Amino acid sequence: MENQELNLCACCTNTYQPVDTFCTNCGYPLQGNEDAQRNHIANRSIKEVDLIELDKKVKAASQSLYWIAGIMAFSSLISYFTLAENDDITVFLITTVILVGAFLAFAVWSKTKPVTALISGLSLYIIVQLLNLMVDPTSILKGIIFKILIIGYLVKGIMAVLESEKIKKELFIK
Ligand SMILES: [Zn+2]
Repeated sequence: MENQELNLCACCTNTYQPVDTFCTNCGYPLQGNEDAQRNHIANRSIKEVDLIELDKKVKAASQSLYWIAGIMAFSSLISYFTLAENDDITVFLITTVILVGAFLAFAVWSKTKPVTALISGLSLYIIVQLLNLMVDPTSILKGIIFKILIIGYLVKGIMAVLESEKIKKELFIK
């Protein structure tokens, strides 16, 4: 063991070498003047606050994937009791299980891969709406406010994830 004093970055407490000009983790100007150092820390805290806000939007979007699964399960239950004699119950049940399952899976997946999960969820949701529209054009109006809210949350969520990834890159958070 080398008996050497540990140099810790004043901004992110990463260790640095005395020869370093900038912190290799956060870019803190180790040899810069006091103003430059203070500015760096201030900018970083603003971005960290932004990240917290964006994180909330991403969470709301992930939450709306659970909502979609729930609403689909609920509306399928209602349709189940109003199925016509000649409707194929097996096909209906399989479709319901697949769709509800897919949105639940996207919701869980969005915790680790938010961009892919939210984009997949949004695409599937729009495809389902388009298919419904082809089968029954009046179906688009059913729960239209819910539909707009859900699409809005998903789109906002996707934008928030992209924005927060950009900021994380700037903050050198891996
Ligand atoms: Zn640092």
